[in-house]
Amino acid sequence: MEIRAKKKFGQNFLKDSSIKRKILEAIPNDNYQTIEIGIGLGDLTEYLLQSKSVVGYEIDVELCNFLKERFKTEIEEESFNLICGDVLEFWKDSSIFEGKYKIVANLPYYIATTIILKALDDLNCTSATVMVQKEVGEKFLAKSGDKNFSSLSVLAGTVGNVEMVTFVPPKSFDPPPKVDSVVIQFERKNEKKIDENFKKFLKIAFQQPRKTLLKNLSQKYKKDDLVTIFSELEISNSIRPHQIETVDYHQIFNTLERLQIGRVREKRT
Ligand code: SAM
Repeated sequence: MEIRAKKKFGQNFLKDSSIKRKILEAIPNDNYQTIEIGIGLGDLTEYLLQSKSVVGYEIDVELCNFLKERFKTEIEEESFNLICGDVLEFWKDSSIFEGKYKIVANLPYYIATTIILKALDDLNCTSATVMVQKEVGEKFLAKSGDKNFSSLSVLAGTVGNVEMVTFVPPKSFDPPPKVDSVVIQFERKNEKKIDENFKKFLKIAFQQPRKTLLKNLSQKYKKDDLVTIFSELEISNSIRPHQIETVDYHQIFNTLERLQIGRVREKRT
């Protein structure tokens, strides 16, 4: 049976064995459940199943039927739990898995950022080794001072470490995508959920990346407060959003929250 890659599901199947090996070598050696998102033809899954059990999600019904045959034995032996459907439908308010788990995935590019943000938010997710479009990877990997340093870099840095595993050229896939890819790896160090208000604050901070941070934040917060906080933290008023560290973002946010709480209390008394 010949299976044609479907663009609408972001299907580019990884064929390069040396990249598959690099992904496998990078996966943390722990006993947490492996979850693969977007099984495709199952080539990476086959390697994964050699040492661990796998829970896998695949949206494409045609591929699912193919996978049920290809991994008949593993499914019967319960080392492979194949879940057919849209992974995001199984991952709404609660965790995607009841215990600790790690993600290994060559992500469909149209939902890669959404899936990574879900993983960063899910405290059961201990690590994620994922293939993404190079530009998306660079945003998560960027360090303060890099022009790509963004709210995504701050979120990743808040949760833990993010590292580059390998660059992947289009010719490593069938069909080849139009873009370069990278495999990156997140490792959770922080067991606390990111405050939703902090995410909103970051959105405002990076709204216009070329404008000053002070100007962006002044859209929502009192300029006088910001000037005082910046001065206390020795941050210049002319700094751009990509030029300060993740820890500075937390300090500015926490001080703004304290001021806000103080004012609400004052109003009540
Ligand atoms: N893992 C395979 C590989 O490395 O060759 C396939 C990777 S391909 C880039 C992405 C896979 O994700 C496709 O098989 C696609 O059908 C599947 N997919 C796309 N959207 C999905 C979703 N929302 N939920 C689950 N799987 C999805």
